[in-house]
Amino acid sequence: MRLILLGAPGAGKGTQAAALAEYFGVPHISSGARLRRHVADGTKLGRKVAHYLERGELVPDDLVMAVVDEALARAGTGYILEGFPRTMSQARAAEARHGGGLADAVVFLDLPDDVARQRIAQRMAAGRPDDRDREVVERRLRTFHAETRPVVDYYRDRGLLVTVDASQPLDTVTAAILTALAGITPH
Ligand code: AMP
Repeated sequence: MRLILLGAPGAGKGTQAAALAEYFGVPHISSGARLRRHVADGTKLGRKVAHYLERGELVPDDLVMAVVDEALARAGTGYILEGFPRTMSQARAAEARHGGGLADAVVFLDLPDDVARQRIAQRMAAGRPDDRDREVVERRLRTFHAETRPVVDYYRDRGLLVTVDASQPLDTVTAAILTALAGITPH
């Protein structure tokens, strides 16, 4: 199974991607987690991307594509790709590189902004620096609407989109995703 998981900050992308990766027995590829790992390890790429993550701005396409391409090459035929593509240019570039398409289905975790704000405030103590600053959170939400919403629409137009109400409890969201995916034939 090859899935893309998209959603606003606070929608539970990381948690749902981990659950789906376990269910389908495929790797979980999170662009955000991989970028954070580079920052924590102080790699050359990590030093280039750190200030974008701190400010809640999108990392330039070429840098994020390098990280994702490497992970996809290693993953092989199945994966849960979380948080990528985040812009139309990333979607087009990734599709061009992966001729037959990047995913069997695209799961959109739909969440009202107010619930996203509450969720992020609740998980703040757990520790992501970009969850702590209200201005950074607002920038991430704005960026989601401006840059990633068109990607959601693009996959909807291509008949690949599965939309799930992400304001439900986590287990209910996982179950709803699996029900919605039941009719999908994996690659
Ligand atoms: P996330 O863990 O998905 O919330 O991503 C955290 C941060 O990593 C984002 O605010 C961006 O700075 C960066 N990031 C993650 N994925 C992408 C992407 N596909 N394109 C650009 N920046 C990204």
